[in-house]
Amino acid sequence: MENKSIWDADLYPVSFSTLKENITTDILIIGAGISGLSCAYELLDQGAAITIVDQNAVYQGTTLRTTAKITWQHGYIYHDLIRKRGWDKARLYYEFNQSGINRIAEIVSRENIACDFRTVNGYLFALADKERENIEREAAAYDKLDIPYRRARIDPRISAYEALQAAGQANFNITKYLRRIVDILVARGVAIYENTRIVDLHGNGEAIAVTAGNKRIRAKNVIVCNHYPVYKKFNFFFTKMIPYYSYSVVAASSVVEIEDANYINTVSPSIALRFITHAGQRKLNISGASHEAYKFKQPLTEISLLKKFGKENLGVADYQYAWFAQDYATTDLLPLIGRIKDNIFVATSYNKWGMAIATAGAMMIKDLLTKNASGYTALFNPTRMAINCKFLGYNLKVVGTLLKTRSIPKRKVVKLKPDSAVILKKQGKRIGIYKDPEHKLYIVDITCPHMRCGLRFNKLARTYDCKCHGSRFTYDGKLIDGPALKDLRRIATSELHDYLE
Ligand SMILES: Cc1cc2nc3c(=O)[nH]c(=O)nc-3n(C[C@H](O)[C@H](O)[C@H](O)COP(=O)(O)OP(=O)(O)OC[C@H]3O[C@@H](n4cnc5c(N)ncnc54)[C@H](O)[C@@H]3O)c2cc1C
Repeated sequence: MENKSIWDADLYPVSFSTLKENITTDILIIGAGISGLSCAYELLDQGAAITIVDQNAVYQGTTLRTTAKITWQHGYIYHDLIRKRGWDKARLYYEFNQSGINRIAEIVSRENIACDFRTVNGYLFALADKERENIEREAAAYDKLDIPYRRARIDPRISAYEALQAAGQANFNITKYLRRIVDILVARGVAIYENTRIVDLHGNGEAIAVTAGNKRIRAKNVIVCNHYPVYKKFNFFFTKMIPYYSYSVVAASSVVEIEDANYINTVSPSIALRFITHAGQRKLNISGASHEAYKFKQPLTEISLLKKFGKENLGVADYQYAWFAQDYATTDLLPLIGRIKDNIFVATSYNKWGMAIATAGAMMIKDLLTKNASGYTALFNPTRMAINCKFLGYNLKVVGTLLKTRSIPKRKVVKLKPDSAVILKKQGKRIGIYKDPEHKLYIVDITCPHMRCGLRFNKLARTYDCKCHGSRFTYDGKLIDGPALKDLRRIATSELHDYLE
């Protein structure tokens, strides 16, 4: 089994250069995941010069680790939305997602994109008896919101109870889709820069973004799509964006005969299912087991829970891919999309539902940019503060999490197996040592540059992760996600020779 995303096999075939000079553009998009690329696509006809920058490479962030179900059926959500935000807002959320589904279907058809796009049923199901009440509440919410659905039985190995069937949902191969979108953007003159990290952004009058290499990008408008907005100022994103970990496995062969559909149950951590066409076979993808980063769960244990479900319920014993991913959720279940300053826009925090939301979000940002109006402005206002139990709970926990992460054992002599890591403290400094399969050592300072939490090694992704706010780094210290803006400091092996065996 390979510890990587199934979509890894289809990265963009060429690299884009790093920005090496100061430039001026009409629209700067920061981040080339589904959010940034969809925004660029929507704005193609505006006659504006568009520039996209990514600190890594196109669609290699969370988007590369998605399970790519395109749906408005986001688990057990509409009952909660009605209760917490009211009928009208819950209905708007549904309509927004429906518009995202329609838009992806339209783009796939208009651009003739071969990306295994399939229209399928979605099912919200009860895995256990205790979930039946959730199903009933969600059905009542669908009724109240006039959302079309029907009650249906699904394969009894998945659920013994009636499920809620949503017709007209979809799924696709995210990398094949975005690969074609990037081709279109390039052909239409969009400038793309990779390995170009934005470390500062000002929006007074003309916006100016500064790269880690100290180059300046002047732009009339900036769309911040870098997962954890690089534009911080007084928006307090760290108090309202909760990092969640999720896991995914794909079966080694097509052995499961159940309806080709999107499935999800009603509780968290959830179990979600879909099929992915891979090497000519229809393979089962099981995902979920989501939890907040601060829960300190072991990724390999969570993966074995997904495999256990596959084995016990559907007889799937062999798996080809297993991967880990992080996404952000807000404390009120709604994404952060819209204007945060006159000429700066943000799209993030999709609560693990970024396909339809990012696509509809791109249309929303286009409306804000071109008409200065959108029916979703109030609902998704990125500057809102939703002070509720979840907000208080998360922020109170962060203090405890920070203290817990800073406590790292002092070790004397370290003996490491290939492809493993150890974290230790030396003279007050937190240090991570990773030995790769060829026995090469990588040593980094594992105090997070964001708020000085201690990082933990993630055996599945081979990364150092911050459990407080979600900053993540490769084993050699390169920043890949989260609010931090710097790589980890590399430490020379000679500094630790008395520790290593
Ligand atoms: C396991 C899992 C399964 C999921 N399944 C589904 C699903 O079935 N359906 C669904 O709708 N959603 C799903 N999601 C959610 C969805 O995948 C995400 O919400 C979505 O991919 C986020 O896309 P993004 O473009 O906002 O972020 P990203 O893909 O992370 O893109 C952000 C980009 O910004 C770049 N960047 C970061 N910082 C900087 C900086 N300072 N300067 C320049 N560039 C920067 C990064 O390198 C990255 O390329 C899932 C998520 C997970 C974790």
